[in-house]
Amino acid sequence: MTAQDTDIRPLEVAVTAPEPGDATLHFIGRIHTPFTERSQCPRQGKPDGPECRIEIFPPWDRALEGIEDFARIEVLYWLDKSRRDLVVQNPGHTDRTYGTFALRSPVRPNPIGTCLVDLLRVEGNVLVVRSLDCLDGTPLIDIKPDRCAFSPKAPPKP
Ligand code: SAM
Repeated sequence: MTAQDTDIRPLEVAVTAPEPGDATLHFIGRIHTPFTERSQCPRQGKPDGPECRIEIFPPWDRALEGIEDFARIEVLYWLDKSRRDLVVQNPGHTDRTYGTFALRSPVRPNPIGTCLVDLLRVEGNVLVVRSLDCLDGTPLIDIKPDRCAFSPKAPPKP
């Protein structure tokens, strides 16, 4: 654990989390960003942020077929440097506390981050996107086409 993992602000509440249970994730790739410290990451990805590279590991790279049809994609990632035991948080930028589920903080029981990003190009097993808000090396969980972009291909069910 790093110092940041154990830091707790006034009024924040930590709990003793149960041992992680049954879900088994495959980390299907790794995200490369210019951000090496959390303080450098934007709070959310910005359309004018830097290019980032999403590397898909074999054998999952085969699953990229057709992705180039989409201008925007949704990226899900594992905020691996987060503590996972806070139920009440004291965001530095507000004057009150909030429950974890009322925040998009990286600190949550299952630290999944999501971002809708512009897909700039596909280079083999690498998606070049703009822009993400995570640390360099953050593990990748999933890629999906943007919901709106997908709807013409899969019309709503009757
Ligand atoms: N866009 C995602 C979402 O809304 O689900 C994540 C938002 S979260 C507020 C983004 C912040 O998480 C960054 O500003 C940084 O402080 C932190 N962060 C980025 N990468 C991380 C990682 N690998 N582990 C833990 N914290 C991370």
